Amino acid sequence: MKIIEIKTYHLRQLLDEPFGFSQWWYDQRNILLVEIVLDSGISGWGEAYGPAEVNQTIIEKFYKPHLMSRNPANTDEIWQFMYNRGIDFGRKGVMVAALSALDIALWDIKGKVAGKPVYQLLNKGRETVKTVTPYATGMYFVKRDNLSQHLAEEAAGYVDAGFSSVKMKVGIGDIAQDVANVKAVRTAIGENIGLMIDANHYFSVDEALELGKQVEQYNIDWFEEPVSPDDYAGYRKVRETLNMPIAGGECEFTSIGFADLLSNGCVDIAQPDPCAAGGISEMIKISQLVDQVPPEGKCRFKLRSYVATEAGKNPKTVTSSFVTNSSVQKMTGLGDSETTTQLVFHTWGSGVALSVSLQLCAGLLNGKKSNGNLPYPIIEYDRTINKFRENIFIENPVIFCNGKLTVPQAPGLGFEINREYLEKYRVDT
Ligand SMILES: [Mg+2]
Repeated sequence: MKIIEIKTYHLRQLLDEPFGFSQWWYDQRNILLVEIVLDSGISGWGEAYGPAEVNQTIIEKFYKPHLMSRNPANTDEIWQFMYNRGIDFGRKGVMVAALSALDIALWDIKGKVAGKPVYQLLNKGRETVKTVTPYATGMYFVKRDNLSQHLAEEAAGYVDAGFSSVKMKVGIGDIAQDVANVKAVRTAIGENIGLMIDANHYFSVDEALELGKQVEQYNIDWFEEPVSPDDYAGYRKVRETLNMPIAGGECEFTSIGFADLLSNGCVDIAQPDPCAAGGISEMIKISQLVDQVPPEGKCRFKLRSYVATEAGKNPKTVTSSFVTNSSVQKMTGLGDSETTTQLVFHTWGSGVALSVSLQLCAGLLNGKKSNGNLPYPIIEYDRTINKFRENIFIENPVIFCNGKLTVPQAPGLGFEINREYLEKYRVDT
């Protein structure tokens, strides 16, 4: 069994109505998919988060030449090879996102070869998981009169559709407007629906505290990315001061990055994006880290030292050089009580990314207890316009019904790509 081809697909959808968040406006949606083809004819699919052209170039020019003829079953070895190959300039960011897409495709292959959905490889076949509860991500900024009313109506629509929680954007540039938007949405959805706010690292610490204090009365289930992802002390101050859970991590990469985020006591809810932060292989390690964080929130993870690659040779000892469950150590003196930190995967992009997060929720998180009012596990379900969420499959295995999303049960990630649809929206040919 060996890799004989790696293909990339850049898809683009032009949007009729742009939507924005605290950082910029979207007028188009770009997706980068990767397909790894084996000599046996089996194909595995993955997706990279971030700028599609850049991810495409990294995969095609940087990783692909090193992966041809390799045995796809050696996911740890291939992950470590790719990471080591880029470590001098790509420990975080798009180098890891491109790596993530390839790792995900290898896990799709792993499941297809085993004849099992990926989640059953992750939970070792312990249980069948049919559904995961989603929350609706929406309430982006749009250029319309009376934005608060528009957002309130959008949120009420998600509740009518069966969602039990919704997430909205804040950081519009005017805290009074943010507060008015949150109030309008809370009023529209009522008290029994979960409400999360997401600033996409827009605020200074003082601004985040100002907004947080003003919206505490609206029962916020988490405040996502209140401050810069680099500001660990700021995260901690916001978390210690506000009376609401703090979430973050979609700008963080690999288990090394999450060890920093968690050991600095930054978040109640860690949000790695599987298509950015290191693929399925790395999500396993991050979930193990999250499970080790004590209720006090602060802990220390001992990372094994990095083993350098001997020039021109594949590293042989690399799988032992990373964060593993056995290498995780709690800070002494913090007790052994149950963790309260939780994992909620950041999920954006096509149906491929959504299927990956569903497999991870089902395989790594199912059966774990919630630390708050929201169900757990819970999956992010983006509700903005996106042709590639449902339509790129021959038959969509991810169905929203009775407030739940179905987990694909077919082998691998559980879908079959509609190649005609792909070709229709490709912009790289
Ligand atoms: Mg976010």
